[in-house]
Amino acid sequence: MTKDTGENKVSKKNISRRTCLKYLLGLGLGCLLPWGAVHQAEAAKLTEREALAQFGINLHYPSLAFGDMSLRQQTSAIVVHHLGFPDGHDASAAEVHNFHRNQGWAGIGYHYLIHRDGAVEKCRPVEMEGAHCYQNNGYTVGICVGGNFEIDQPSKAQMEVLAKMLSAMCLLYDIKPGSRTIRGHQEYNKTKCPGKNLQAKLPQLRIRTSMLLDQARSK
Ligand SMILES: [Zn+2]
Repeated sequence: MTKDTGENKVSKKNISRRTCLKYLLGLGLGCLLPWGAVHQAEAAKLTEREALAQFGINLHYPSLAFGDMSLRQQTSAIVVHHLGFPDGHDASAAEVHNFHRNQGWAGIGYHYLIHRDGAVEKCRPVEMEGAHCYQNNGYTVGICVGGNFEIDQPSKAQMEVLAKMLSAMCLLYDIKPGSRTIRGHQEYNKTKCPGKNLQAKLPQLRIRTSMLLDQARSK
């Protein structure tokens, strides 16, 4: 977590105009399609729910009210975070949501939050731009793991569920797991997030993700 997450406050209306203009100027096709249609056509055929179901993940849906958000135009990488509270508190999505809203953001900046027992809370809608990784929110999904992994270790359940969540996102957005597509927050911004103990596990998480994806695709 970091205070400087680059929350995007551009309204959907402005994005819509800009997107239409891009197509008018760049492609000369005019604004014939609803603005999200091109993106959706290019995105994976699976829904979020279907992709998660492939790996046996049942989301918890906290009741969170968000301010204005923008649809993400592309998705090519996944950023791993920790909550990073000094006492290692495994806060609920609602707690983090209130904390982020009080900073003037649209709401919780992550897309998912994985708790110590392996339960996953859905946070910001996955198709929306997050507010979790300054200057890199426009093409990334943000997954946060509850705890402070500068001082603690992620639980076994968190490691297993994180690999499954990474696999589901790779399936949903057609991402190849690797060191450029699955990264810790500290690889983008000046922060200790997701903590040295979780950052050190990213190589094995990428391997586990590849294995899970191969298994899912060969079903
Ligand atoms: Zn972070």
